[in-house]
Amino acid sequence: MRFFRPGSRRGPAENSVELVRLRRAMGEPRCPICRLVRESEEWRLWLLLYEHSGDPELHRRFERSLGLCSRHAEILKRIVIQRPSATPAAAARFYETLCAHVRGALGAGLLRQRCELCRYAEDTARRYAASLAELLRSAEGRRDYGRSDGLCIPHLAYALEAATGGIRDFLRTDAAARLAALEGNLRELQRKQRYDVHEGITPEEANAWREALWRFGGVEFDDLIAGIP
Ligand SMILES: [Zn+2]
Ligand SMILES: [Zn+2]
Repeated sequence: MRFFRPGSRRGPAENSVELVRLRRAMGEPRCPICRLVRESEEWRLWLLLYEHSGDPELHRRFERSLGLCSRHAEILKRIVIQRPSATPAAAARFYETLCAHVRGALGAGLLRQRCELCRYAEDTARRYAASLAELLRSAEGRRDYGRSDGLCIPHLAYALEAATGGIRDFLRTDAAARLAALEGNLRELQRKQRYDVHEGITPEEANAWREALWRFGGVEFDDLIAGIP
């Protein structure tokens, strides 16, 4: 394979924390980058409540986006309710300053910038996409990725941007094979659900519509996953 470079199967960068996390996430179900981004989001929200709550720059960024978007507010809510280390008082302190800021801004019109956590999540996803392109330089990395559930389409787009040459070809070929399999399963699920067809539906076919949801839209997690105490 032309993306295989003898003697450089394991570069020093491969020992980095991000590559280790990627390898772990590839052993879990669904898109590994969605999982790592979600873990990062949870830790970032937790830090917002605590370590950085006295950080003026972070507060300013938070004010410019007029708080969190509904999706990130929902994750923050779960952290406060479900994790003993996060208290309602910490969330209250954070939003108290926001009330004063927005009251002051009312006269000038409310110009809302992008949610600070959405911006952070996109940066994190692009960083991991670049790390994945690095990981795929090794034969082991490609083997592990091939055995994983692969990327969602939004994160595949980032990885294709980050990859070059043979790695990009590998990602395209891999994605085309996964999409062809998904398409086939979606077709068979419909056919076998017809009243006049009496054939067993395989687990892959039964799950195909759910896979399509995360594959095209990205993974949404029902529970907290980051291991916050
Ligand atoms: Zn994803
Ligand atoms: Zn957001």
